[in-house]
Amino acid sequence: MTDASASDITTPPWHAALWARMAHAIASDRVAHGLLVCGPPGVGKRVFADRIVAALLCRNRNAEGDACGECAACRQRIAATHPDISRLVPEEAGKLIKVDQVRAFSQRLHLTPQYDSGRIGWIDPAEDLSPSAANSLLKTLEEPPPACHIVLVTDRVSALMPTVRSRCQLWRLAPPAPDAAREWLQTNGVDAQGLDADSLRTPFAALDRDAQDYAALVNGWDATLSDVIRNREDAASAADRLAKQPADLLTDWLYRRASALLAVALMEGGETHEPRALPDNLARVATRMDPHAFQPWCAQVAQAARLARSNADWQLVIESLLLDLKSRLKRRQSK
Ligand SMILES: [Zn+2]
Repeated sequence: MTDASASDITTPPWHAALWARMAHAIASDRVAHGLLVCGPPGVGKRVFADRIVAALLCRNRNAEGDACGECAACRQRIAATHPDISRLVPEEAGKLIKVDQVRAFSQRLHLTPQYDSGRIGWIDPAEDLSPSAANSLLKTLEEPPPACHIVLVTDRVSALMPTVRSRCQLWRLAPPAPDAAREWLQTNGVDAQGLDADSLRTPFAALDRDAQDYAALVNGWDATLSDVIRNREDAASAADRLAKQPADLLTDWLYRRASALLAVALMEGGETHEPRALPDNLARVATRMDPHAFQPWCAQVAQAARLARSNADWQLVIESLLLDLKSRLKRRQSK
């Protein structure tokens, strides 16, 4: 494989079915103008989006519908000098994408492309569009220049304005099955034998960082959550530590803990037939929970995830989540 974005890793097998659909759409020239590539962190969304861009620009695609890596357009793309690619990203990490940036971006997309493959716009992360920036983008998404494609990448499709979402075609990547993830990681030089289910669900995160580190992070967060619930640590000091963790991984973990806690709470007698998705001490908490009192907390976790990239005080958001969880558990105990 000569594609730059995937030069040192093999194609993830869990992308294959979605790629087959995309390759077919590209080959039959029926690709939507707005393509929203979404899915949880660590599944390889940017690799997939890069693959789309490469294929759209290539003059000589191969049998799988992938870019050849050798034509003039591919060489320019690989050298990051392709004249028809415009990128819209936050000016600083963690900041929102501004309306002025969107205006300049839309103007660039309307310039005559150098190649007849048309212009490509790349927006990443799409949930970082400020509300006014998102509004300003709508017209371009609705009436894009001919042959123009805009690829948006997001971890949290629910955080996008519905008006942006509805103007894009959704390409959703799901996490791989554990065996597929393990095999792929091994092929790419990561010792995956000892990896837990969390790490296998986010193979690109495992590839990016030392896999042991990620497992240790999750263990630490689980211990913190359990300590807060059992009054061994106060919510403020726990929030202080959690707020310094990588926000996308932390919110993904919170999502999964909230839904696993709810699943256990909903089970009669607390018996689960599923493989344990929770550490033992959290599972014990969940068996005593009132699912009706707990359910609103899951919605709050989703709401908090949206605030992670906003200007909200992230530490305060986490602290109020923890306090709210405790008060919901207390209400149950005092019944
Ligand atoms: Zn090519």
